[in-house]
Amino acid sequence: TTTVALFTRDLRVHDNPALSAAARGADHVVPMFVRDRRIGAGFADGRARFLDECLADLDRNLRGLGARLVVREGDPAEEVARLAEEVDAERVHVAADASAFARTREAALAAALGRRALEVHPDVHAVVPPGGVRPQGGGHFSVFGPYHRRWQEVPWRPVLPPPERLSLPRLRVGSVPRVSGPGGETKGRERAASWLDDGVHDYADQHDALAEDGTSRLSPYLHLGCVSALELARRAGDGPGAEAFVRQLAWRDFHLQVLAARPEVAHRDFRPRGDHWREDPESLLAWQQGRTGIPIVDAGMRQLLAEGWMHNRARLITGSFLTKTLYLDWRAGAAHFFAHLLDGDIANNCLNWQWVAGTGTDTRPNRVLNPLRQAERYDPDGDYVRRYVPELAHLPGALVHQPWRLPERERGGYPPPLLDLGEGRARFLNARQGSGGRR
Ligand code: FAD
Repeated sequence: TTTVALFTRDLRVHDNPALSAAARGADHVVPMFVRDRRIGAGFADGRARFLDECLADLDRNLRGLGARLVVREGDPAEEVARLAEEVDAERVHVAADASAFARTREAALAAALGRRALEVHPDVHAVVPPGGVRPQGGGHFSVFGPYHRRWQEVPWRPVLPPPERLSLPRLRVGSVPRVSGPGGETKGRERAASWLDDGVHDYADQHDALAEDGTSRLSPYLHLGCVSALELARRAGDGPGAEAFVRQLAWRDFHLQVLAARPEVAHRDFRPRGDHWREDPESLLAWQQGRTGIPIVDAGMRQLLAEGWMHNRARLITGSFLTKTLYLDWRAGAAHFFAHLLDGDIANNCLNWQWVAGTGTDTRPNRVLNPLRQAERYDPDGDYVRRYVPELAHLPGALVHQPWRLPERERGGYPPPLLDLGEGRARFLNARQGSGGRR
């Protein structure tokens, strides 16, 4: 018998229930990835390249097991059905996913495969998959605290080793990109190992410090499934650092179960607050390019453009600034992040944006972060700003956070603030009160 293991964003051979199931009992396994151009449209170059690196690495790992990755391009349902026909596959295995896009794709696949079976594996992406914990009375959780308490009680499945040996039937194999770089399972596992060895101990104290390398930076690998969240949670160990880290993995699961229950929240407010977001293309552009004149905001936005990643504290500050201080639609912020973040993920991106905008699961939806207070607290010496805003690199200490206090000639050409922070905040609070937005 022959099976097809269809990879989507589970680009790994370790702890991959879909791949393991495909290998179990089959004579031949055909590992496959379909490039769907609809997904990459609008992505920054770095994101596309990271995916190529992941595919190249997956192919290398599959070759080590005796197979190769078949890459085709086009409509996934059509391409998979065609390959299944070519190799006369009995069934196709794929990871379940929560987005509306993934679910439509799944249904189209099942239809295109006809008599060949489609097996969808719910336990690939999350530690506890959507539906693994439910509130009393059913449905899904919409507040993290109670979700997390129940999440901690759920037993985790064992970590799966890579399949022992795969055998590939004779067939035409599409080209796998020949690139190398930080992307892929091999580098992801190295990073995970050194993080769990070293970094995670200090995570509880360090994760909010903007200038430190105090978080795992595993998010791009988690997004594309180069490392398994379940394996990370299982191997994290004990202590405050490990606990705080595993709690963040629970946030990831929490968002996935919200998206699974309410796929429309990728575009629509989870809890509408009657907002009439402003239209202000110039301010939006200044925010995107990191020239709002608020150094801590601009440092975050420039880190995103330079690295395809942004520190979580900076995501909170820049997100609050866009949606509350500027009062611009969270969807515009989410779209910009999604194009540039290597970890850009429908569930985490849209639901974190909604959390920040107060239209999501935050139980204090109208809080506005003050970027200056945030800067004092999380970048007290100004090192983070100086790293990403070179015009201000000559300013010592915390002075870097308020360049407008200096004469213009000492500001290195850095722009003045787009608006008065207090006025922005007042406009937002008025708008929310006017629309009955306070709960
Ligand atoms: P660590 O602090 O080391 O955390 C470990 C892992 O836990 C992360 O890799 C991630 O998978 C998960 N995690 C951590 N924080 C969160 C969170 N708040 N929600 C869900 N999962 C979390 N994360 C994404 O993976 N993709 C996104 O598109 C994304 N967009 C965001 C947009 C905004 C506006 C905000 C405020 C946050 C967003 N996050 C997103 C969450 C968080 O900022 C990143 O997961 C984190 O910064 C990644 O860095 P890390 O791997 O070093 O995280």
